[in-house]
Amino acid sequence: MERSDKFDEWAILELMGHRRLAGKVTEASILGGALLRIDIPGKDGNFESTQFYGPQAIYCLTPTTEPIARAVAAQSHPEPISRWELPQLQQANVRRCRVCGCTEDNACMTPDGPCCWAEEDLCSSCAAEMELIGDDNDED
Ligand SMILES: [Zn+2]
Ligand SMILES: [Zn+2]
Repeated sequence: MERSDKFDEWAILELMGHRRLAGKVTEASILGGALLRIDIPGKDGNFESTQFYGPQAIYCLTPTTEPIARAVAAQSHPEPISRWELPQLQQANVRRCRVCGCTEDNACMTPDGPCCWAEEDLCSSCAAEMELIGDDNDED
C-alpha cells in the first residue's frame, strides 16, 4: 500500500448470486489483473479469512464504518451447506396426521389442548373422533 488513493476501507460487498460479505476491503493486483481483496473478521474480532474477487463478480460495494462492517460480517457468516439443506429435508419427512394433515408444529386443538400422536400417522384428535364413530369397540 504505497499509494494513498487505493481503495482501503471497511465495506459491505455484495456478489453476483446474492452472497454478501463484509470486512476490510482493499485493492489488490494479481498477475496484472485488478482484484478486490476482502479480509473478513471472525467472531473473535480477528480476521478469519481473506478472499479475492474480480470486478465482474461484484454486484455492489458499499463503504461503511468498521463497527457496521463487523456487525454485517457476523450476521452473514457463511453457514455450512448442511444447515441450509436440513430444513428442506425435515420438511419432506415431516410427521403428518393421515386424516386431518396436522403436524407437530401445527397441531389441531382438542378439548384437552393441542393434539398429540395416537399412532404413527394419526393424531389424538382424529383418533378420538374415530372412537366416537365406532363407539361399540371400546378398548379402554
Ligand atoms: Zn388428525
Ligand atoms: Zn391433530
